[in-house]
Amino acid sequence: MHKIVVRTLKCQISGKSLDMKVDLHTHTTASDGQLAPEALVAKAVKDKVELLAITDHDTLNGYHRALDVAKQSGIRLVSGIEFSSYWLAYSVHIVGLNFDVEHSAIKNGIEAQQQQRWLRAKKIAQLLEEQGIAGTEEGALRFSGGHPPGRPHFARFMVEQKVVPDMNSAFKRYLSDLKMKGLIEGWASIPEVIDWIHQAGGVAVLAHPTQNKKMKWKQIRRLARVFKDAGGDAIELITNDQVQPDIRRRVDKLVVDYAMQGSGGSDYHGAGGGELGRDIEFPVGCEPVWANWSLTALT
Ligand SMILES: [Zn+2]
Ligand SMILES: [Zn+2]
Repeated sequence: MHKIVVRTLKCQISGKSLDMKVDLHTHTTASDGQLAPEALVAKAVKDKVELLAITDHDTLNGYHRALDVAKQSGIRLVSGIEFSSYWLAYSVHIVGLNFDVEHSAIKNGIEAQQQQRWLRAKKIAQLLEEQGIAGTEEGALRFSGGHPPGRPHFARFMVEQKVVPDMNSAFKRYLSDLKMKGLIEGWASIPEVIDWIHQAGGVAVLAHPTQNKKMKWKQIRRLARVFKDAGGDAIELITNDQVQPDIRRRVDKLVVDYAMQGSGGSDYHGAGGGELGRDIEFPVGCEPVWANWSLTALT
């Protein structure tokens, strides 16, 4: 299959041609990333990213905080978010891009998801108590900076308390999907999330479709079908772990078969190594998610 490498692709946008290095999936301290939003933008500038989205989990706080720095540095910062959803027993992440951040559908959606995050934190603490570890809710909150704590924050607290030697053991022994039954059903459904994003004029992207190693390829294809049927626009062609050639070939086929747009990014959470920005290769017949965006309006 012939491919076009986007770094050298000439996109005709507003009559201008652009070569772009993009990153449409990143996290900051506003959710579970380790870099403050301002520092993430600075790193993106250093890594020569030209089109950036901050896609924190169920919040726009990081995006809002980064706006001024992005404007000063000249990087194009597009609005972004990563909503949690689910399908069958699997958690599903949907990235929303380039939407009106003031739209009530997005604001109400975020509010509902944040409430769900607090309920979920209580539920995790309760499930841990049933496994014999009491008093984790307040401890996890210390690691989440006032945001609703998620599983990684509980894991960090358990490492601190020497309940487990490291994060991996915390997940394996206490926080796996198997041990945390009933946690995902509280998230909004796939059609609901897509509807929030669309109402606000954005595009809905199925994030890292191959990340959940428990999903067989047949199920990933079914999920993509469900996502498409619910009105989803795009699929991530490349993310952190979706780089091996055989996986990429399969995702390419998925995107072409279902006539979706392609997106991608680093899913960066770290503070140290790892470059922002990705070379996204688009299979023939698949257009970039930003093909119809007015990028000049972003700077
Ligand atoms: Zn995700
Ligand atoms: Zn992510």
